Amino acid sequence: MKKSLTIILDPGHGMSNRTSGLFDPGAVSGNATEADIAMVWTNDLRAILLAAGHVVIRTRVDHKDPAPVGKRATIARRHNGQIMISFHCNAAAGTAQGTETFYRGESHRELAEKLNSAVCSALWTRNRGAKTESSSQHATLAIMAFQPCFLIELGFIDHADDLRKMTNHTLRKAACNAIAREIESFAGR
Ligand SMILES: [Zn+2]
Repeated sequence: MKKSLTIILDPGHGMSNRTSGLFDPGAVSGNATEADIAMVWTNDLRAILLAAGHVVIRTRVDHKDPAPVGKRATIARRHNGQIMISFHCNAAAGTAQGTETFYRGESHRELAEKLNSAVCSALWTRNRGAKTESSSQHATLAIMAFQPCFLIELGFIDHADDLRKMTNHTLRKAACNAIAREIESFAGR
């Protein structure tokens, strides 16, 4: 019998992320915002997971839904999630490209690598690998207070090729399908 999982999806940034009442778009490039891209990826992955019979909880459901960064791990815990996936984009003034995934704890390195490769294979982005949270822009990531949590930096929003790939419907669907398969095999379903 198939086992139904509770999966927490975290679209990065958004309303009240850092400051109450203030919308945090994350990285911005032209008309593209990280908060938008993260939400679209979340909803596509959510649709795939729901169709497979899983329970999906989002830390924010739209751009009006307040989601302070410090409270997101609490949401994951409250709903007894088995795993959390957080979507973000990088930015580096057009000087870098590729996909990287942050994780906490050696026991989660393998899944972080698999998730990252799954996205790279579907999007054809450069594989920057799986990295511990200490190699992110912060010493620790607030979201990682919930475990296991994997923060996927899908690509660089200010790199034209990465942006095109992240916002391509077909490529995104393929990547989300691959992510869903990795989540299920991790959970032994
Ligand atoms: Zn971000």
